[in-house]
Amino acid sequence: MRGELFLKTTRSVAVFGSTGSIGEQTLQVAAHLGLRVDALAARHNIEQMERQVRKFRPRFAALSEPDAAKELAIRLADLPTKVLPGAENIEEIAALSDADTAVIAMEGISGLIPTIACIRTGKKIALANKETLVCAGRIVFSEARTNGVDIVPIDSEHAAIRQCLESRGNGADAVHKILLTASGGPFYGMDAKKLSAVTPEDALRHPNWNMGKKITVDSASMMNKGLELIEAMHLFDLPPERIDVVIHKESIVHSMVEFIDHSVVAQLGIADMRLPIQYALTWPARTESLTPSADLCRIGCLHFALPDEENFRCLPLARRVASMPSSAAAAMNGANEAAVAAFLNGKLSFPGIAEVCEHVVSNTDIHECSDIRDVLETDREARAKASEYVAGR
Ligand code: MG
Repeated sequence: MRGELFLKTTRSVAVFGSTGSIGEQTLQVAAHLGLRVDALAARHNIEQMERQVRKFRPRFAALSEPDAAKELAIRLADLPTKVLPGAENIEEIAALSDADTAVIAMEGISGLIPTIACIRTGKKIALANKETLVCAGRIVFSEARTNGVDIVPIDSEHAAIRQCLESRGNGADAVHKILLTASGGPFYGMDAKKLSAVTPEDALRHPNWNMGKKITVDSASMMNKGLELIEAMHLFDLPPERIDVVIHKESIVHSMVEFIDHSVVAQLGIADMRLPIQYALTWPARTESLTPSADLCRIGCLHFALPDEENFRCLPLARRVASMPSSAAAAMNGANEAAVAAFLNGKLSFPGIAEVCEHVVSNTDIHECSDIRDVLETDREARAKASEYVAGR
């Protein structure tokens, strides 16, 4: 694990992105563990937020879309929960909430600002949002060290790696490499011709995991694994050449670590995000969970294979970007977010996603981002270049 550990116990949570898939499952785990929910923040889903507030009675609730927040405030007038409107108030919640732990489950680069704001108020970070570390890993870890907070990954692979690393014995030098597993998504095994004809509906049918749209498309394009490779590099302080990607279509092994004696330690379980969420909240302790046992005899076989980097070009691109100064990763991520949106809107073919990302990275000023403003500016420029490229195709 990177740096020292602060080991703060979680007794209360603020959930950023509470109405998404990870947010909903976090609240199930919070109820199961008997944690106090102090604050909830999301983008615009009024019905779901109202339901969550009535059930968990947080002190604060925020919707970043002002009209949605106004409507929510009217509906919740009978409760003492303070409703905050507008995107800037997501940041304010970080300051107002006295939760000891922030679960960051927002989509894309939007997770960056609340993560930094929560670190600065000393909250432990349970991080489901990989884009934050991809775009600003060094800055985020430097802030975390200064403020004495741990960043605990919720991403299932990274939660697995963290558990595997506990058997490393004599320290960081004992690790040979990380084996990051990938289901391969719905298109694994398809050739270039077939890939050029896939639709957003095809991409949204993930075989093992039920997730938000953006991450499901990222899983299909293998960009998700590319982002996870960069995420792992920051979390575990290893160079990209010591992180291998292994296709494992059953999603039972959630990742592995090979040590210098060539012993491989793996973490197994069924594909249920409530398990890594709970581990992030109770870590380093374990307690009974809502996740059923993995019946290995019924599962029978576990398969492993090499990824197809010729037809799934986002993965080799992310690997190249991982060894470049940080603006390259921020640009790739911004381009990908714009490209995925264009693909979902029918304006870009599926192979076009990798093409857009490659184009934007090769047309970006590559430098080490000095601060968050620099990261956000790189992101904005990358999105503009991506949209321009999509429009001109
Ligand atoms: Mg993952």
